[in-house]
Amino acid sequence: MSQTLTGIGASSGIAIAKAFRLETPDLTVEKTTIEDVSSEEEKLDSALAASKEELEKIKEKTKNELGEEHAEIFSAHLLVLSDPEFVDAIRGKVKDDKVNAAFAVKEVSDMFVSMFENMDNEYMKERAADIRDVSKRVLAHVLGVKMVSLAEIDEEVVIIADDLTPSDTAQLNGEFVKGFATDIGGRTSHSAIMARSMEIPAVVGTKEVTTSADFDTMMIVDGIDGTVIVDPTDEEIAAYEMKQDEFAEKKKEWAKLVDEATESKDGHHVELAANIGTPNDLEGVLNNGSEGIGLYRTEFLYMGRDELPTEEEQFSAYKKVVEDMEGKPVVIRTLDIGGDKELPYLDLPKEMNPFLGFRAIRLCLEKDEMFRTQLRALLRASAFGNLKIMFPMIATLDEFRQAKAMLSEEKEKLKEGGTEVSDEIEVGIMVEIPSTAVMANTFAKEVDFFSIGTNDLIQYTMAADRMNEQVSYLYQPYNPAILRLVKSVIDAAHQEGKWAGMCGEMAGDEVAIPLLLGLGLDEFSMSATSVLPARSQIAQLTKEETEQVAERALNMQTSDDVKALVEETFIDK
Ligand code: PEP
Ligand code: MG
Repeated sequence: MSQTLTGIGASSGIAIAKAFRLETPDLTVEKTTIEDVSSEEEKLDSALAASKEELEKIKEKTKNELGEEHAEIFSAHLLVLSDPEFVDAIRGKVKDDKVNAAFAVKEVSDMFVSMFENMDNEYMKERAADIRDVSKRVLAHVLGVKMVSLAEIDEEVVIIADDLTPSDTAQLNGEFVKGFATDIGGRTSHSAIMARSMEIPAVVGTKEVTTSADFDTMMIVDGIDGTVIVDPTDEEIAAYEMKQDEFAEKKKEWAKLVDEATESKDGHHVELAANIGTPNDLEGVLNNGSEGIGLYRTEFLYMGRDELPTEEEQFSAYKKVVEDMEGKPVVIRTLDIGGDKELPYLDLPKEMNPFLGFRAIRLCLEKDEMFRTQLRALLRASAFGNLKIMFPMIATLDEFRQAKAMLSEEKEKLKEGGTEVSDEIEVGIMVEIPSTAVMANTFAKEVDFFSIGTNDLIQYTMAADRMNEQVSYLYQPYNPAILRLVKSVIDAAHQEGKWAGMCGEMAGDEVAIPLLLGLGLDEFSMSATSVLPARSQIAQLTKEETEQVAERALNMQTSDDVKALVEETFIDK
């Protein structure tokens, strides 16, 4: 019998396919003394051979699908496997110390990893990560544990996992991965956000999808309503295929608005922009009629690799985006690493509260050279289009001033060296920390614009982790507390003749849109796939009526009251 799970719809659309279970294998190792050395040696040899064969296959596949450069990491892994020092040390342990092969692999790899990690040379330090990865693969073979890799998927599947990290998500191949469902996570976790830009239907926070389904179980993922059906009946499959067709029809209707301006019924114009993670998302932006890019999350350029991107690499990514947008505004956010976005090669200490920790601008101001490299790349790219720079996680005016001063210094240096830099770059901040929202009138005198980052602003205001489905009931975009903060930020910007946008997920939310229009938001930046539905919605609203509703909402008592008011006035009509 089928089973229906309820979660949070993270990316709309419907996927019907069998499950592919992504899990972190249990590679715990116990030390045992062995009698039969040769059988342990055989186990080791076949694990080494199987790992080699697997890596060669993955390398070939990656090279064909993603190019030589991406395949290099697997060449490095193969190199470790053929290194006699490494392999002989493992063999020696089994033979001389008479320990089980798994323990020998673990002990030798730990030793090599710590040796490489302690070297001064950056290149050598990175080899530690290769050794760790290869050893895991060999160990899995010795232990007979199945290691699954997203890169190996070559048939249509729905991924089920406890959680997906943003770097897992970045590896998903949309051709085969039809959808995903996770046990944990919220609508604003970065894997959910990425699923939306990749147009992969997703449901997060189901709490039990990994215990309810296994490899090859048939699944329906309904990202519109946030439900997952495990092992559906034929009737359920037929019904969802119909829902899939209806969704495709709706998309066709929205597509007619692609070249239209965004205007309310009474002629008020607002700008609808898109959020992107990489230049690869540009196609979606252009196909969905965005009027600009309101948030380019540059951290993805730093992820899924072993070292910092060079200035040249960054420059070409930023230049491509501003050029392809042909003069439309492009707001590029400086590195916002931390929280759920990790960079293992920075070797940052584990923190108790990563969302409140050493992240984003805090890290950049400290890692001066890393930050300046990014600023130079941005400044150089500014000569090729309409580029704006935005600093994330600003909590104090002092942080903004420091960041801005570094930007000005790099600009002067570039200009002195004869490099062309635009003189019209607007420099703004994300308003995502309550202290900054409260002090918006002070900030407004010094910044060129605000972009309200509600994903974080809500979690910090309500003290509710955006990744934790247990407290997702507190994640309340329509709570009057949030609306009052948003209003004061917009008013503060307007007071100083500046513009205010929003790039948190709230900007694309059907219930929030009328309220934000009524509060006077100038720019709404959202997942590219939400742009056309938002344009269609705004065309049916009048600014005047939304203002009246927003005014009433600000004085209501609860989030539910506000939601009911908006729904009865604008949505269920
Ligand atoms: C936000 O916090 O609202 C935001 C847009 O930034 P991110 O989701 O990347 O933290
Ligand atoms: Mg944020």
